[in-house]
Amino acid sequence: MDVIVIGGGITGVATAYQLRAAGHRVCVVERHATVAQGATYGHSGTVLPTPLDVWFGPTFMENRRTAKSGVVTKIGFNSGARDFLKRLATLQEPAAFEEQMGRLRPLIELSRDTLADIETRFGLEFEQRNGVLHVVRSAHEWELTQPALDLLRRYEVPHHVLTAAECAALEHSVPTDPDFAGGVYFESERTANCPLFAKLVKQLLDEQGGVTFQTGREVTSIRVDNQRAAVELAPRTGDSSRSREVDVIAGDAIVVAAGVGSLPLLEQLGLRLPLHPLRMHTLAAPVAHEECVPHMTVIDAVKRITITRMNHRLRIAGGAVVQPANLVNKPLGEALTREALALLGQATHDWIPGAAKISAALPWEGLKLLSPDGMPLVGNALHPRLFVNAGHGPSGWGMACGSAKVIADLFAGATPDVPPDTLAALRPERFRD
Ligand SMILES: Cc1cc2nc3c(=O)[nH]c(=O)nc-3n(C[C@H](O)[C@H](O)[C@H](O)COP(=O)(O)OP(=O)(O)OC[C@H]3O[C@@H](n4cnc5c(N)ncnc54)[C@H](O)[C@@H]3O)c2cc1C
Repeated sequence: MDVIVIGGGITGVATAYQLRAAGHRVCVVERHATVAQGATYGHSGTVLPTPLDVWFGPTFMENRRTAKSGVVTKIGFNSGARDFLKRLATLQEPAAFEEQMGRLRPLIELSRDTLADIETRFGLEFEQRNGVLHVVRSAHEWELTQPALDLLRRYEVPHHVLTAAECAALEHSVPTDPDFAGGVYFESERTANCPLFAKLVKQLLDEQGGVTFQTGREVTSIRVDNQRAAVELAPRTGDSSRSREVDVIAGDAIVVAAGVGSLPLLEQLGLRLPLHPLRMHTLAAPVAHEECVPHMTVIDAVKRITITRMNHRLRIAGGAVVQPANLVNKPLGEALTREALALLGQATHDWIPGAAKISAALPWEGLKLLSPDGMPLVGNALHPRLFVNAGHGPSGWGMACGSAKVIADLFAGATPDVPPDTLAALRPERFRD
């Protein structure tokens, strides 16, 4: 088949890889000049999520009105944003959290296998590093962490529950003054460079043939009927008025993997989704004192702020801002940006004091698409020729590889390697039920 993949982030690139491996010809359409320029660019490195990483559950936004949550909420009376947060809050209930994690876990495990297969098959190097330490400040937060720890035990995920002193003994950069409740160390969980991986896979696909990348092209609409599938493209910037006719790419099927850009494209076709774009921030800070730099990734488990060493810099990522969806394409404004970046600066000061020169850090912001039930959208939607692979929220790095395999299996008419309840929970049309 000839398949059009909309979006050249990690999800689109991983989807192109799996479809090509299954023998299809693929055309990836990306509006930026190259791949991995959207949410994929801003990644904080964590390859696969554990129950402590997902953006739902007892610890996520528990204290939503204060900076303690790690999320800045400015939604006013906007009903869409309110509904979104209300739905997400139902997963704070431990039983609901466990149930949803049970559905997500098979996709995480499939992603682990799929990524390992690509890595070993091609010997790819993308700054993989082992060792992730989650730290928790207060006794109350530690209490809220317990359902996630129960799941780690139940799923037999290798991990060590540590006291504050044990955390400091393991990771010298984390101070025990002021005291904190404890931490969880994952020896074999990894961080790695997501945009680098996406570019290496693109390079592989370029070399192997069978996949074309139409970069610098924006899809404005999708057409699907019984005969074919097609996308319309916006004129290239700088095109003369004479050549401003609509470009169309036609194929047999389409996969929408356009991150936040998936929402308007699907809405045009009548699929209105309650997913919400979250504005996220990163700081890339030069090292201040080499001896204070952590040798493993340190994550503030409640604020969802990740501190990772990447070459000569520290990358501090988090500082989510929840706004009404119609504001996310406008500049955030100085005060809110300051508030979000202050969360990152404070986390650095709290957990790895002296390591980073925050005053010289380069800020970045981007959007990630979060679903109110914590599950991405993966599968067929609206028409047999239309598929969606989007909405991975905070965990698209490695999970994109597993969800791409699910898409390729669905194309082949094969049963994907996840249980039926996981497959049902991934259905893009589930919010219509
Ligand atoms: C600050 C930050 C930190 C993160 N940290 C982690 C982490 O540690 N671990 C993890 O697993 N995940 C993390 N994530 C989430 C992860 O980055 C995302 O889940 C993942 O990158 C989503 O990939 P994507 O390809 O779906 O979306 P994107 O990377 O946003 O790609 C979508 C692409 O589609 C293109 N596009 C959109 N509309 C159109 C259109 N109409 N026509 C043509 N092209 C279009 C865009 O230009 C974009 O390149 C983080 C996200 C952020 C923002």
